[in-house]
Amino acid sequence: MMDLLRDPALVRLFEEPGPYYTSYPSRSEWHDLQPQVVEQVMDELAATGTGELPLGMYLHFPYCPKRCLYCICNTELALPDTDLDGFLNLLIREVSGFFRRLRRPGLHPVITEIHLGGGSPSILSPEQFNRLLDGVSRAVDLARLAEFSVEVDPRSAAAAKFAAYRARGASRVSFGIQDLNADVQRAIGRVHDVDLVRAGLEAARQAGFNSINFDMLYGLPRQTPDSFAATIDEVIRLAPDRVTLLKYAHVPNIRAHQRTLDRHPFPTAEDRVRMFLASCRQFTQAGMVHVGIDHFAKPGDSLAKAYQAGHLSRNFIGFTPKRFDGIVGFGPTGTSQLGPLYYQNSGELADYTAAVQADRMPVTFGYRMTDDDRVRADVIYTLLCKEELQFADIEARHALDFPLRFARELEALKRWEDRRMVELQSDRLVVTSTGKFFLRHICKVFDRLLAEKEYRVVGP
Ligand code: SF4
Repeated sequence: MMDLLRDPALVRLFEEPGPYYTSYPSRSEWHDLQPQVVEQVMDELAATGTGELPLGMYLHFPYCPKRCLYCICNTELALPDTDLDGFLNLLIREVSGFFRRLRRPGLHPVITEIHLGGGSPSILSPEQFNRLLDGVSRAVDLARLAEFSVEVDPRSAAAAKFAAYRARGASRVSFGIQDLNADVQRAIGRVHDVDLVRAGLEAARQAGFNSINFDMLYGLPRQTPDSFAATIDEVIRLAPDRVTLLKYAHVPNIRAHQRTLDRHPFPTAEDRVRMFLASCRQFTQAGMVHVGIDHFAKPGDSLAKAYQAGHLSRNFIGFTPKRFDGIVGFGPTGTSQLGPLYYQNSGELADYTAAVQADRMPVTFGYRMTDDDRVRADVIYTLLCKEELQFADIEARHALDFPLRFARELEALKRWEDRRMVELQSDRLVVTSTGKFFLRHICKVFDRLLAEKEYRVVGP
């Protein structure tokens, strides 16, 4: 794969901006949406007699004690007088209001996964965390919970917090690491040495967590291929069960605080590609499985098992084992998919607060999928999760003739076949080991909406 670096056109292609398809259509296609549309979709779900409705839940806690300079998330500063308990009350009120609205004869929502992210939810005390979970469990059935993950900043990790997470059924903690190099950490305003990370990891293991994720970022200022390779070697020694390796998005027009980073040298496009490829090699040589675009997991981890068994799904959380038919997001910017509808809460804390206090859904933005979108979403997610597309599967699920419906796309894929990125057979499309590095680009061939207009980056 390092051959990729010898071809400047491939480096440019790898670096090309574009969607990562955590939804299809991607967020750049979404528009203003009235909360009533969500209630209409609830009616439709009940009318189709869905019965049990397995849902994933994302809880967004937006507060952080300090803003990291690279941050692209929706965050609020937690100052000494910030009323975190007041925010938790709002979040609980939003969750219970949603499930009260969803209550309809013939519809039984069950939560199979919870992801508590942010922000920095690990700044919550065990008592605050327990209060949040009490509120959620009063609102909806958690008896079928199969996975519950909590994002942890190593700087606010503590044994008592891990014990509280475990006691409420949490199965995984996800540490935000990004880079372990001291120069890079100083540049990005997020300093935690490897001893602190190791102590957090050991405390989590002692509390009984046997699935631990590290979030890493490449493309940050002051990173070099050598420094990042050393960081990845250190990560491998620490031995998390999963790693998510994302590319840093420098969008100072959306996140003004990122402008501070411009005084530091950034890695070149070639270096970013070099870092990603080298990291893939390091993780796989260490025995981890490369899942999807940018996830790595030990062979015994549920993510690697789901990938190898063909039971992976793609959603706002990334790649996850397939356990739910929809996902409901709460908190500012909480993002949901319910039936054919994607929707997102307001990211403005004041607007979010006003809506929840007035017992309105804080929804502002979304997209209702057409039948064509649903077919294309299925094609794109199948390619992302399985790296192979059996035409008969899509034909059976959507009652269509694949070669007829996608004649233009199959023609366009010949260009990818010439590059040995895909193998086009009469009944299937197979992504090659080289093509795996261009998965999201190959998916773009099926993105009708993107083909019709230029892609633009939209802040979360
Ligand atoms: S801890 Fe995470 S969410 Fe908070 S400022 Fe840093 S990067 Fe952003």
